[in-house]
Amino acid sequence: MSGVGLVVALTGGIGSGKTTVADRLAALGAGVIDTDVIARTLTAPNGAALEPIIETFGAALRCADGTLDRARLRDRVFADSGARAQLEAILHPRIEAIMLEQLAALQTVYAVLVIPLLFETGQERHADRVLVVDVPESIQIARVMQRSGLTEIEVRRIIASQIPRQACNARADDVIDNSGSLAQLEPQVRALHVRYQLSAASGQRPACNGFNRS
Ligand code: ATP
Repeated sequence: MSGVGLVVALTGGIGSGKTTVADRLAALGAGVIDTDVIARTLTAPNGAALEPIIETFGAALRCADGTLDRARLRDRVFADSGARAQLEAILHPRIEAIMLEQLAALQTVYAVLVIPLLFETGQERHADRVLVVDVPESIQIARVMQRSGLTEIEVRRIIASQIPRQACNARADDVIDNSGSLAQLEPQVRALHVRYQLSAASGQRPACNGFNRS
């Protein structure tokens, strides 16, 4: 069982700004656990998920230097929902177990679990609150294209595979609007940090910031 006073699950669509928000909360003192980081460690050479993935999807997914061919795996699972379910069955239980281990070891006032597929994987149960980072699709596409070099079609394909924006927001306790500049994001992050700290100290859940989880 974690010693932190409050556990916040942070989610949002691809490129919505989850890492940006999590980094700011970490800089302010939150204990942040990013499941994407755990996933990368698990699929790195010697990571616990690499061999099961190669066994399931074939040796062609191993690059000459021993690393996983992530682009090829991504193409494979997007083209085939069965393959995607197989990959998730390998990754998700392992990620979840490590996340809970790390959470139990945290010594911070409150914790932030960054879980991109929070609702899709039914992991809200690990958190006291859900924080969603929200942006309109057009901004999401522009930021991801700029960051990754993916085409608009590829980004749209990923967005279509995730829970729709409205449904995501409807299940949030708190929503950060990241459609503006980083300067506009900052006061929202600071305000939430203060509320989470107070809530963790008092043992009471803070009121919602305008959106209610159903
Ligand atoms: P992913 O789902 O791919 O992991 P993410 O939700 O963690 O993405 P970030 O990596 O934080 O999103 O942000 C996506 C990109 O948008 C990054 O290049 C980031 O620097 C940029 N970005 C985030 N917020 C803003 C902002 N308010 N203004 C301008 N650029 C931003």
